[in-house]
This record gives sequence, C-alpha cells and structure tokens, in this order.
Amino acid sequence: MSARDVIADLKELAARTGTPDGAQRVAWGPVWREARAWFGGKLAEIGLTQSPDAAGNNWAVLRGESERTVIIGGHLDSVPNGGWLDGALDLMVGLEALRRFHATRSPVTIAVVDWADEEGARFGRSLVGSSAAGGSLVVDDLRGLTDKQGVRMADALKENGVNVDRMLDAHAALKRIDARAYLELHIEQGPVLEAMDKPTGVVIGTFGVERHMMRFTGQAAHSGSTPIPMRRDAFLAAAQTALGLPRDRAAIPRRRPASSARWAR
Ligand SMILES: [Zn+2]
Repeated sequence: MSARDVIADLKELAARTGTPDGAQRVAWGPVWREARAWFGGKLAEIGLTQSPDAAGNNWAVLRGESERTVIIGGHLDSVPNGGWLDGALDLMVGLEALRRFHATRSPVTIAVVDWADEEGARFGRSLVGSSAAGGSLVVDDLRGLTDKQGVRMADALKENGVNVDRMLDAHAALKRIDARAYLELHIEQGPVLEAMDKPTGVVIGTFGVERHMMRFTGQAAHSGSTPIPMRRDAFLAAAQTALGLPRDRAAIPRRRPASSARWAR
C-alpha cells in the first residue's frame, strides 16, 4: 500500500475541488458531483465502477475469494472551506486498498462507499446517506428542509437521482452485504492525539451531544447602594452554574516531552 499515492490523490482532489480557503464540495451541488466523477474516473483506471444506492451513497465493490465483506467508508462532501482530509482521506485509503488488491487477489470482498451528505452543510441535516443505509433516517424529517436559496431538499436530491420516498431502500441493500468489518480512517477533529504525540488512534467509543437552552432571570439594581449579597444578578448565577458543571479533567491527556520520537516507523 502506498501512502504516497494516497497523498497524491488527496492533493489532486483538493486542487480540483478547492479554493485557497479549502474544500468546496458541498453535497448535492456541482463541485461535489465533479469530485464524485473524478473519483469514479480513478476507479475506472482499475476496471471498477460505482453504483449508487437509493440514498445516493456510491458503492465500489471488488469481489474477493469470499463473500465476506470489509466496508471502507468515507465522504467526498465537505462543508464550505472544509479541510482537505475530512472524509476524503478515508476514501483515498479505500481507493488505494482497491488498487492493491485488484493487482493481487483479496481474500475478502472489499466495498468502498462514498456516503452522501455526511456534513449536512446545505440543508442542516448531517449523516443523510449513512443514516439511510443504517436504517435510522426518518425520511419525514427531510421533507420540510430548504437551503438558504429556498430550494427544497427533496428537489435537490431528485436532481441527483435520489427519491426521498425510496431512500430507506439503502438499508435493505446494506443488509444484503455479508459485512464483517467497517473501517474508516478519519482525520481527528480535535487536539488529543497531537497532545499525546500519537500518529493514530483507534476509536473505542463515542459521545452523544445534548443541547439545552437555559435562561437566567435576575433583577436590575443600583450599583454601590445594593451590596452584592443582596443582588439577584443573572450573570453571576449563570457563571456559578457553569463552574459547577462536572468536567472530567482526567480525560485530558498531558503533553509528552518534545524529545520523544514522532511518526516513528
Ligand atoms: Zn468527516
């Protein structure tokens, strides 16, 4: 497997579909389609074609000696001014795996999937294609969504060959695959690995995010004549609440000494 090829592909993709501000491959738009066509061209070089599922995810499959399948996933879509590695690294690694095992013979079947609209940058709903494949997408949630120009999401999907009413067929298609493993080599979107001086890590868990709106109501009072303990200060109440929230300090790694070997082979 050639890391050099992966980097070269990533740079080529960035040059074709980015600006100095970053990647511009917003899902369901022309630059994203261009990126997908480019990726299709790379697969064609080794005689592979992609086929879309009902949710617009693009699948390229290399049959191996066994039907047992390793799925390698990523996404070509980006947020506006996105990073050059987010989603694309995963796919270029998948492409390189296909190249490598195309030349020899893979003991297992390899399926590389380009998930459609992981970022949700245009309609505010992320993980669109992958949640359809996973079966958790609530299709009705998409019907009312529009972009900033007022284009309905259902119409933008239709323009890209996706019928909202049929999207969950992608789940049945995924179920038909004898999937044994799912791999995704994603750029870390945080500072932890760098702080730990590690080139890579394996995901062993994830976080759920909850958002709550809290309103602190106080009472205005004259400065000087109303002592602090007798005030009802909304800002102080909010600050005390924030400081009182539990925080897991033990989970924040300490930086290793700069002398330790980096990127050791
Ligand atoms: Zn990503």
